[in-house]
Amino acid sequence: MKATIITIGDEILIGQILDTNSRYLSQQLNAAGIVVCERTSIGDSAEQITQTLDRAIAQSDVVIITGGLGPTKDDITKHTLARYFASEMRYDEREAEHIRTLLARRGIAFNELNRSQAMVPTLCTVLHNAHGTAPGMWFEYEGKVVVSLPGVPFEMVHLIEDEVMPRLKKRFALRQIVHRTLITAGIAESILAERIAAWEDALPEELHLAYLPAPNIVRLRLSAYEVDGESISRTIENEFEKLHTIIPDNIVGFEDATVEQLVHRLLLERGERLAVAESCTGGRIASLFTAQAGASGYFMCGAVTYSNSSKCSVLEVDERVIEQFGAVSEQVACQMAEGIRRVSGADYGISTTGIAGPSGGTEEKPVGTVWIGISTPHRTFAVRRDCGTDRGQIISRASAYAISMLYNEIR
Ligand code: ATP
Ligand code: MG
Repeated sequence: MKATIITIGDEILIGQILDTNSRYLSQQLNAAGIVVCERTSIGDSAEQITQTLDRAIAQSDVVIITGGLGPTKDDITKHTLARYFASEMRYDEREAEHIRTLLARRGIAFNELNRSQAMVPTLCTVLHNAHGTAPGMWFEYEGKVVVSLPGVPFEMVHLIEDEVMPRLKKRFALRQIVHRTLITAGIAESILAERIAAWEDALPEELHLAYLPAPNIVRLRLSAYEVDGESISRTIENEFEKLHTIIPDNIVGFEDATVEQLVHRLLLERGERLAVAESCTGGRIASLFTAQAGASGYFMCGAVTYSNSSKCSVLEVDERVIEQFGAVSEQVACQMAEGIRRVSGADYGISTTGIAGPSGGTEEKPVGTVWIGISTPHRTFAVRRDCGTDRGQIISRASAYAISMLYNEIR
């Protein structure tokens, strides 16, 4: 069972809105065992709709379209579909009554434009939109199903849940799509790939492997499409089990856990405490931890020590060390991590000091240079990382590196 998703709207193409409908539809279809083979966004143009429909119907069993069902002239989906399926239009009394009631509640009079919203192609099954004025439409065409839904996200969601998914499940014998993810840490993607090459080659044919790398973390996702869910889940369990003997020290979790969640769990389990001293990451690390419920069980404090003087006064960094090596240096990163650990009484300290740009870079320390310090009861060290060229990316990457470095150190 294959599906194509088509989202219609000039506002998507000019970047005015983000096409969140496609993502939602992909999740729903996948969960129901339907493989999405294409997602595409097009303008409010009859020609584009017709061309895209030709391709979508040729390649898939189900086509889901959103957008362009409003009462205004720029919304042309309904008439284009009627023409495409060579359907007459009819006036639907029930929809008209619903539209009149909705409008009356908002104090708006029912006019000619609204009347046109109650016009539906005779060939389609009307999908009643309890939350809006534009009904959805379900067409059957040469054994294929074409569904057209309003673009407004919450109206679309209600129609999918209440009307479309139940009908698809009744109409087709659906199988399942299974994704399982295993998280590895402390092993580079290329080395991991080499280490598990034999395992990968011997995987059952219906399992597809994907590598999803992030700083210090590589996720391995096994997917199976249109299968019997229960038996394939057992097969995947078995395959993951084999990995426990191949990379025993590197498996740290399953599914979607982030590194900050892994650290969070570990610290809570052990009753150990954390403090962070941030310069270039400006509090991002502290906020990643404190966004998790229960962080007060281990998170002691975060200091954003942006200026040199605050590094000295808050973290007791030695002024002369800053003068000698510069604020972005191994020595300062170490003193910051040690300092925050000492003044807060935490078991672990993390620090960042770097050049987030766009200015301030030098030949020796270009924009993106970040020193990350880690201080534990056993040792203090710092690592230099090149975190990219864009300010936002540098802050995100430096934070991710710092958290994963701590994770590797303590696990
Ligand atoms: P209406 O009856 O409200 O006019 P419609 O079917 O004509 O519904 P559109 O005019 O295409 O829908 O879109 C209405 C609004 O819904 C847009 O302004 C936009 O905010 C949102 N929207 C449309 N398409 C999408 C999409 N693919 N992803 C997210 N939001 C969308
Ligand atoms: Mg519209």
